[in-house]
Formats: sequence, C-alpha cells, structure tokens
Amino acid sequence: MKKKIAIVLLISTLGCCFELQAQNVRFKQYFTDATLRIDYLRVGNRQHDTIGSLSHERLSLWAGSLTQLLDPFDNGDYRIVVRDAKSGRELYSRGYNTLFREYRDTPQGADSVAAFEEVVRVPWPRRTVEICFQKRGGDQRMHSQFSYRFDPDSAMVQLRRKSSLRIATEPERLQYKGNPHKKIDVVIVPEGYGPADSLKMRRDFRSFCDYLLGQEPFRSRRDDFNVWGVPLSGQESGITDPGKGIEVNSLVGASYNTFGADRYLMTMRLFRLHDAIGNTPCDHIIIMANSSTYGGGAIYNFYAMSSLNEMAFMVLPHELGHSIGGLADEYVDEDLSYGDMHTMEQEPVEPNITTLVDFGAKWQSMLPAGTPVPTPADETVPRNQNGPLGVYEGAGYHAKGIYRPVMHCMMRDYAPFCPVCSRRLNEVFDLYVR
Ligand SMILES: [Zn+2]
Repeated sequence: MKKKIAIVLLISTLGCCFELQAQNVRFKQYFTDATLRIDYLRVGNRQHDTIGSLSHERLSLWAGSLTQLLDPFDNGDYRIVVRDAKSGRELYSRGYNTLFREYRDTPQGADSVAAFEEVVRVPWPRRTVEICFQKRGGDQRMHSQFSYRFDPDSAMVQLRRKSSLRIATEPERLQYKGNPHKKIDVVIVPEGYGPADSLKMRRDFRSFCDYLLGQEPFRSRRDDFNVWGVPLSGQESGITDPGKGIEVNSLVGASYNTFGADRYLMTMRLFRLHDAIGNTPCDHIIIMANSSTYGGGAIYNFYAMSSLNEMAFMVLPHELGHSIGGLADEYVDEDLSYGDMHTMEQEPVEPNITTLVDFGAKWQSMLPAGTPVPTPADETVPRNQNGPLGVYEGAGYHAKGIYRPVMHCMMRDYAPFCPVCSRRLNEVFDLYVR
C-alpha cells in the first residue's frame, strides 16, 4: 500500500550498454562466493542526511547471480556501487529505496533529525574495492554521497558484534528449485509469533508461499523461486499498534501506524531483521506479520510486509510489486503525509507511471496504434480486469498530472498486474536466473 518515489528515465539503449558491461564482469575474478553485509545508520532530515556507524559482516554464501552484476534499471533514489580500487571499474551495483526516503517527506522530517538503520548486501570482494553510496539529486542523476575503501584482508575491517539471534537450526525450505545463483531466493521472516505459536507459524509459511507465487507473472515463473522460512519466535504474540494502545515485544519490532497511517505496517529494526535472516540465501525479504488487522508496506530492494488479514493473498503481491519490481502505486491518495515524492516537471523513475515528460522511456512502444494520449477513463471496465492499455490520468497518489497504463492493476486496486508492471517484473526476475 505504501510507497513510492521520484525520477528518471529508462533509456533502452543505456540498459543494453549496462547489460553488456555486466556480462563482462567476471565474478570469480573479483568476488568470492560469499556476501558482504554492510550495516549503517542514515541520519538526517529533508535538508540533508549523512551515513555513518558502518559495520561489516561476512556471510557464508552469495545468493545473487554470477553474471548480472550491474543494475540495468535506473530505479530507486539510492544506489550501492562497488568498484575495483585499482582500475576504478564498476563491478557491482544495485538501486534501492529506504524508509528514510519517506520520513524526510513527512511534516516531522522537515526539520527533525532522525536515525534510520539500513543494510545492503554485496558480493564479498577478493581484493580492495571502493564502496560508494549514491543518492539521486534534484537533477535526477545519481551522485556519490559517501565512499570508502574496503580491504577484505585487512585486520582493520571492523566485523560486527555477534548477534544473539543466530539461527540454531536450518531455515525451512518452503520451496527449493535449485542453485541460489540461478533462482530468486525469497526469505519469509515471521513477525509477532510467540513461543507457543510454532504450529501456526508453519501453517502461515505455507499460506504466504502460496500468496507469493499465486498471481501472474509470479505464477508462471514459480520454478524460478526458492522460498525459505526462518523459524524464529519473539517473546510475545501479536503486532504493535499504537492506535489501539497495543505494544508487543516481537521479533523485529514491526508496527502499524507508521508515519501516522493506520494500515502502514513497517519496522525500523533493519539490523535485527537481517540478523534473523543470517546466512539464509536471500535476494528478497518478506515479513509475515501475525495479525488479522489489514496492513502492509514495502520498499524497493528493502523488504515487503503483509499481515495475515483475509486480503493478504492480494496485499502481498501488491507489496512485492514495490519491493521486487520497484513499481509505483497506481492509485490516488492526496492525503498521504509522506507520499508526495513526484514532481510534475520530471519523469518518475518507476516504470509504471508517467508525467508524459518522457513517455517514450515508458510504455509508449506498447500502446496499440491510434490510442489517444491521454486516454479517456472508461468506468465500465470491471474492477478485476485491466481494460485496454492506455495512458489514464490519476496515479502515484496524484489525481492530476500523473498517468497509469490501465484502468485497474494490482498496483491500484488488486486487479491482475497490468502488461507494463508484468513486463518489469519479468525483467527483474531475469536478473536472478541468468
Ligand atoms: Zn500496473
């Protein structure tokens, strides 16, 4: 239900160029089959933010692709880049978004400074690399925010304090289809389960696995997914809900009412979340919240969360549209305190909405000949169908000035994913299976 962000264009020729580069980076020459987990704090407000308190940890395997190392999508407002320290060559990159990005657009974020935990995972380098944190600027381009040299052999590498959350037993294989290098590894972290809830947790794992793979295009690609469940409990059952005066000592500290929106269910405890995942092969994270109250949230390449409400079979795919696909919400909600991330003078970075500033970089080539731009709304299209592909006004929380591809989509009102969203999801899936 949440989410969204601002800027940039997906120039297809640029994408090809990146892909070619990516194929040319030889994984084994630069990396070993392990993961460098980097924990840090992002501290700031709307005016400015800084990165600090870094710590590093070596995880036992790398779950990502060995060939698709550079990010072909210019999506997200942040990007992590790993360069060879000697040659300066770009070896690995990924775009992502963060909860801080939303905080800074809230009324409180205008001037109050807050600290947010963030975690990125990159392949473990064989030799010294430059690690660069980039941030999208007002010109829509990525700029270096902070960078440093990381020598994997140095005794000075500050390894993380050992977490008390280390998993004693193996994660559950809810679905295993093969080598993590060629699969999309999704880890389900149970939240709000107490010591007596382990049977329910295992039942709920199965349900969430079904919801993950139940809708197109996930259903057709189900054999490209490994799904893992981390069987960990917290001290108590339930989910914190400040609006109802409920406070729960749960595994990863998730809460409703994030930034004052009742149904917005998120956690700020990223270090603990990644502690729970530990060495489980992980490309994407789902937090399964043990509550029947409607709610969820997701951020691109960060995590997705849904409660066990009766709508979870639709809420979860919607949230995965954000966290895996980097898709924008296609609905209108002009009351969102943290949602005003789009400016009408620039093309948004997400593939499924447009301001028509650079529509050629979006789904223009998919439009049937003769389609009017913008396309008049057709209120006769049933709620469970996309209707004809077009350019319909009202998306990205704004009633005017931002356009979506169809009348109804998973990213608007739980209809099936539209052709534009499905195309991007399939492109992202391909990044993990080659
Ligand atoms: Zn869509």
